[in-house]
Amino acid sequence: MKYTVITGASSGIGYETALAFASRGKNLVLVARRNVELEKLKSEIVKITSNLDVVIIATDLSVTKNVYDLYEGLRDYQIETWINNAGFGNFATVGNQNLNKIETMLHLNIEALTILSTLYVRDYLNVEGSQLINVSSAGGYRIIEDSVTYCATKFYVSAFTEGLAQELKGLGAKMKAKVLAPASTETEFAKHAFGLEEFSLKGVLPKYHTAKEMAAFMLKLYDSEKILGYVSGITYEFELKDPVFPYVAIKKN
Ligand code: NAP
Repeated sequence: MKYTVITGASSGIGYETALAFASRGKNLVLVARRNVELEKLKSEIVKITSNLDVVIIATDLSVTKNVYDLYEGLRDYQIETWINNAGFGNFATVGNQNLNKIETMLHLNIEALTILSTLYVRDYLNVEGSQLINVSSAGGYRIIEDSVTYCATKFYVSAFTEGLAQELKGLGAKMKAKVLAPASTETEFAKHAFGLEEFSLKGVLPKYHTAKEMAAFMLKLYDSEKILGYVSGITYEFELKDPVFPYVAIKKN
C-alpha cells in the first residue's frame, strides 16, 4: 500500500489537500499537533470513501526529536508523496518580533522541513513516482513588509526545494521535488500570524483564495512536470513554472 504524508493537515491548506488526495484514492498519513482536528478530518474522509487507510499522528514538529521520531515511525510505510505543509507566519517588524515565536517558526518552517525532505530523498531517490512537495509562499519570492522573517523562512523553502529539484534532475533521480507557493488564502494562518483569537480575510483583502482552491492547485502541481506552482500575490493567478532561482551546476570529472 502506498501513502501520502501531509504535515499540517489539521486545518487550512493541509486539511483540504488531504481531502483532495483522498478523492484521488490515496491512503494518507496526517500529521499536526491537534489530534481532535485530525480525527475530524479522518471521519470526513472515511464518510467519502471507506476503503482508504488514514493514519493520524499528533506531534509537534517544532521539536527536533519529534521530527526524527515521525520519520522513523513511518519506516514500514511505502510513501509515494511527502508534503511538508506545516508552517506559520508572524506579522511584526524585526526589532519587535517575539523571539520565542520566531525560534519555533525557524524550527518548523526550516528545520523540520529540511530534515524530513532529506530523510525522504535518502530513501526514495530512485523510487518511480515518488514526489516531495514543500509549501512555500508568494512571500518566498518577494519580501512583504512586517513579514521579513517569515518571508526569509519561505525564501529558504523555495531555494532549498528548487535547488533539490535541480539536483535530482542532475542525478537522473526518479523522485521529483516541487514547491507550492500560495498567496493569501483563507485559513487559520493570519490568525496565528497576528496572534488573534479569530481573523478573516473577508473585507480585509480584495482578493484571496480558499483552502479548497489551493488544494486544487496542489493537485495540478502534483500532476505536472513543472517544479513550481506559483500564485501571484498581485493577480492571484496560479501558474506552473520552471525554477525561478539561478542554479549553477559544477562540472565534475
Ligand atoms: P493553518 O490553517 O494555520 O495551517 C497550519 C497547519 O500547520 C495546521 O494544520 C497546524 O496544525 C500545523 N502546525 C502548526 N504548527 C505546528 C507544529 N509545531 N507541529 C506540527 N504541525 C503544526 O495555515 P495554512 O494557511 O493552511 O498554512 C499551510 C502552509 O501554507 C504554511 O506552510 C503556510 O506558511 C503556507 N502559506 C499560507 C498562506 C496563507 O495565506 N494562508 C500563504 C502562503 C503560504 P496544529 O495547530 O494542529 O499543529
